[in-house]
Amino acid sequence: MALGNTKMQAILKEYEAIRTQNRDTLNARRDQVAEKAPAYFDYHNQIISLCMKRTNSALYPDTTTDTSSDYQTSLAALRKAKEQALIKAGFPADYLEPIYDCPDCQDTGFVATAQCNCLKRRMVRALYAQSGIEHLLETNNFSTLSYEYYQGADLEAFRGAVQVCHDMIEHFSTRKDNLLFTGTVGCGKSFLSGCVAKELMDRSFSVVYFSASQLFDILYQNGLYNSQEDLYNYDLVIVDDLGSEVTNSVVTAALFTFLNERILRGKSTIISTNLSLSEMKDRYSERIASRIIQNYKICKLSGPDIRILQKRLTTRK
Ligand SMILES: [Zn+2]
Repeated sequence: MALGNTKMQAILKEYEAIRTQNRDTLNARRDQVAEKAPAYFDYHNQIISLCMKRTNSALYPDTTTDTSSDYQTSLAALRKAKEQALIKAGFPADYLEPIYDCPDCQDTGFVATAQCNCLKRRMVRALYAQSGIEHLLETNNFSTLSYEYYQGADLEAFRGAVQVCHDMIEHFSTRKDNLLFTGTVGCGKSFLSGCVAKELMDRSFSVVYFSASQLFDILYQNGLYNSQEDLYNYDLVIVDDLGSEVTNSVVTAALFTFLNERILRGKSTIISTNLSLSEMKDRYSERIASRIIQNYKICKLSGPDIRILQKRLTTRK
């Protein structure tokens, strides 16, 4: 999916606005030059007629008296005079050159048929904005990953989970993994979800994040999305803190449809939960637990509540 059509259209409109603004600036500059350095346009017109004469002589060689070197000399002299007219009036030499925010694509977003880097950057920014976790990613990303809060078996489990995340990211374009992070509060589940989300969005995949209750609101009230269809188009959906919502048979049915549909469409999902697999079976259903066991990589994390440890460390400093 990357970005939906509407978002892409909005980005292309931004380029249109940039081009209009730069054209307006250039027109305003022309007016200034026309007022303060009218000679500039005289030279400009002389260059045009010289070039036209040159084109004519190339088309009709018999009528020409102009030699190539005469032409080049006159052209260079006129260009020089034109530039001097600007400079003498106090303008920079390139004052009337076309203005581009991105000279590579001339503010179109494309270089030939390929996406320009500036377009790719805009797309990634849009992906971040629609993800719902933009601010969370400032702290939850691989550059802030630390093993210092873990020891023994907890450390082993965390290292293993980090490896699973890297593996998922590395193969994401060809293989759609699903992950279940299960474990106690504050042991790094949401942190790792954020790490994966950021890496994938930086690679132009679309990611969206929901708490479990937000997800069920969408599934049953269509609160945020015009169509549930959108939910199934994201490359990755992150469901945080599954089990924190009020569960009933409607929620259970919705959860099964959601998980199943994502699996059938070959789209990745990351779920984090404090529940163990057997608690999930009891809380939801046998078939939900078995869908997860069959289709998800399960990372069982453990350890102290890192958020509490971090708070203690900050207060000590
Ligand atoms: Zn560009």
